[in-house]
Amino acid sequence: MPKAAKLVELAPALRHLIEKAARAREHAYAPYSHFQVGAAILTASGSIHVGCNVENGSYGATMCAERAAVAAAVSAGEREFAAIALVAASEHPPTPCGICRQVLAELSPAIEVVMANLAGDVLIASGNELLPSPFTLLR
Ligand SMILES: [Zn+2]
Repeated sequence: MPKAAKLVELAPALRHLIEKAARAREHAYAPYSHFQVGAAILTASGSIHVGCNVENGSYGATMCAERAAVAAAVSAGEREFAAIALVAASEHPPTPCGICRQVLAELSPAIEVVMANLAGDVLIASGNELLPSPFTLLR
C-alpha cells in the first residue's frame, strides 16, 4: 500500500528528485489530454535523468514521463535505479500506468516510487508494491 506523506516531510534528496520532475513536467507535450507529467529517476550511481510525457495524435504512440526518464537513463548507460519521482497537477498524486510499472519492474523491481502533485501531497511505494507479479523472461 502506498504511504502518504507531505512534501515538507521528505528527505532533501527526495524533495530534490521531485523538484527535477516538476521542472521536466513544464516541457511535457500534452495537447490532447492537457495532463502534463514530469519524472526524474535516480540511478544507483547517483545520477538523475528526467522525462516528460510526449503525446501523439495516434494516441498509441504516446510516451509516458516515467518511460521517457528510463529511456534517457538507459541511453546514458544506466541500468539500476534507486528511485523515481513523478509529478502532475492532479488532485491526488499521480500513479504510474501499468506499462510503466512493467518497465520499472524489469530494471529495478524494488525501486522507490515517489508520486507527488503540485500541492505537495506525496505517495511513496516500492515497485514491488505497485506491480507484485510482473511478467519476466529473465528470472
Ligand atoms: Zn506510463
